[in-house]
Amino acid sequence: MIIVIRIIANSLFNSVGNIMELKTFKHGIHPEYYKELTQDLATVPMPLPKQIIIPLQQHIGVPCQPAVQVKDEVRVGDIVGNSEAFVSSPVHTSMSGVVKKVEPYPHPGGAMVNSVIIEANEQDQSFPPKKEQREAASYSAEDIRTAVRKAGLVGLGGAGFPTHVKLTPPKDKPIDTVVINAAECEPYLTSDHRMILEQPEEVIYGTQLIMKAVGAKKGYIGIEANKPNALEILRPLLSAADQIELLALEVKYPQGAEKMLIKAAVNREVPAGGLPMDVGVNVNNVTGAVAVAKAVRDGLPVLERIVTVTGKGIREPKNVLVRVGTPIKEVIEFCGGFTPSARKIILGGPMMGIAQTTLDVPVIKATGGILILTDEEISELKPHTCIHCGKCVHACPMGLIPSKLGALVERELYEKLPEYNVNDCMECGCCVYVCPAKRPMVHWIKVGKAVLRSRKK
Ligand code: SF4
Ligand code: SF4
Repeated sequence: MIIVIRIIANSLFNSVGNIMELKTFKHGIHPEYYKELTQDLATVPMPLPKQIIIPLQQHIGVPCQPAVQVKDEVRVGDIVGNSEAFVSSPVHTSMSGVVKKVEPYPHPGGAMVNSVIIEANEQDQSFPPKKEQREAASYSAEDIRTAVRKAGLVGLGGAGFPTHVKLTPPKDKPIDTVVINAAECEPYLTSDHRMILEQPEEVIYGTQLIMKAVGAKKGYIGIEANKPNALEILRPLLSAADQIELLALEVKYPQGAEKMLIKAAVNREVPAGGLPMDVGVNVNNVTGAVAVAKAVRDGLPVLERIVTVTGKGIREPKNVLVRVGTPIKEVIEFCGGFTPSARKIILGGPMMGIAQTTLDVPVIKATGGILILTDEEISELKPHTCIHCGKCVHACPMGLIPSKLGALVERELYEKLPEYNVNDCMECGCCVYVCPAKRPMVHWIKVGKAVLRSRKK
């Protein structure tokens, strides 16, 4: 009996009733997910804001220079910031209006970032209509990369790496496999899940285009098993000719991290300090795949995105379709405002999201969630001395010794950090989550990496 229950817990029934084994990786954690707050709520569009703030850096790489001046009139989709650098990505206005200011403004990353502030006017605020869909194979790889760059696509799962760079692998790193990350393993977040349910055809089309761009013959879409309806809606849309397979993944954090996903999907290990292309794989987020479909077919930039607004600190949790540049204050008001015990605002999920100190920051291309936590959800425990329980070592998906890394930073022994592979840490937070002494390892590791970077300069 126990054996049968275990098999079911580690597997999922496919559409014809067979058991599919769930793919995964070693270590990791099983936090509470709280996805029930929003997973069944269809996305609702938000009314247009009166003013938007478009930061000139929403990506990893060279910041954009302003392409507009104060008093310029702009129309939906116009470029308002650009750069000639390869590792950069243009930014567009998500609304028609008039440029009021170009000045530093609070950014979700925590710094002040030069931004274009646009006030809406009476002009047309609609997006260009959907164009007729061509076969993905009819585009050249260069067509796809050019459209993606022009549309300003960046990793929409959080990191913000320019997509056209990712779709340009060096010649000596051939790519045979594309993996679409639809795991959405961060607790609370459901925006990727809603995207699959509401735009499944775009998910498949975007995956086909990415495969064409990098020359991959095989594609996988990895979805955690706690989203069976997402697997079900995609399955009938796939044909054998697509060479795309659905992967049911074990529900475990951080299943969506690139290295973990690659291990689960194709059983390859990205070497320490390496990238997915070192093992012939290209990984893209599912919302990013949909954005690729719209950029290539319709020439549509990332002008809006689904944002999960959730947590016990918000009165009406929702999945909201928000124009990029909308201040988060307005998104929170649209969701009924804070509950009396609301205490902490995080952009992203609770494990890797960034805590905010002001409600003025705008939704940017990579904002997938606004999480409002309450007093009861925030642990007030102060860090204690390490009790050498080893739980952090067991949880670390990268095989590191988080307790040691933390202790080295605490004692300012930064030069010893590389011996313990500090740069392999992806700051996933598993170690902190399991630590009974509440030791802030991720904070220490970030400090240690920053010190090493500054010493290299
Ligand atoms: S050391 Fe880094 S990679 Fe390992 S669990 Fe902690 S945060 Fe994650
Ligand atoms: S989990 Fe915390 S207390 Fe246990 S070994 Fe790691 S740092 Fe020390």
